[in-house]
Amino acid sequence: MNEFSKLPGVGKKTAQRYAYRVISMSEGEARAFSEAILDVKRRVRFCKICGNFTEEEVCGICKTRDRSLICVVKEPKDVIALEKLHEYKGVYHVLHGVIDPMNGVGPNNIRIKELLERVGGGQVQEVIMATNPDVEGEATALYIAKLLKPLGVKVTRIAHGVPVGSELEYADEVTLARALKDRKEI
Ligand SMILES: [Zn+2]
Repeated sequence: MNEFSKLPGVGKKTAQRYAYRVISMSEGEARAFSEAILDVKRRVRFCKICGNFTEEEVCGICKTRDRSLICVVKEPKDVIALEKLHEYKGVYHVLHGVIDPMNGVGPNNIRIKELLERVGGGQVQEVIMATNPDVEGEATALYIAKLLKPLGVKVTRIAHGVPVGSELEYADEVTLARALKDRKEI
């Protein structure tokens, strides 16, 4: 139960359910389960270019896609979400976090230096900032954009409206400002 409750989104009750399930497993099942955990730790690592999960030194996306276009995201799970759209043809850059001074995360704690090195290489034409539309995500996008502009690269920000189902007065200011700026004539 202690181990399961370390997983994100797993509370006490769920951890208990998982623990009971493990107890009822056959020895073979339990072995396969624990070996899968060790296996993923041994095999999966971060792509040395983009920082996404991969089983090789360089991931499949970096190997095959248009490297002149980089989409900057917070976490590997954002890559999965964007890939599901089957729209994007460029490569990614996973920051592994966003600037969050309240929680002690500064620019040097995420993969900004690596991004500047990639763009500095000269091949990149556009960088799309696709961090979340929350305060930290917006601040991180602006911070990085400032660093990228002098390198002569086009920097864009994905458009965000006020989330569906939420009310304007409850949307955070940055999101609202963004939604206002991106307003379209209807
Ligand atoms: Zn990669």
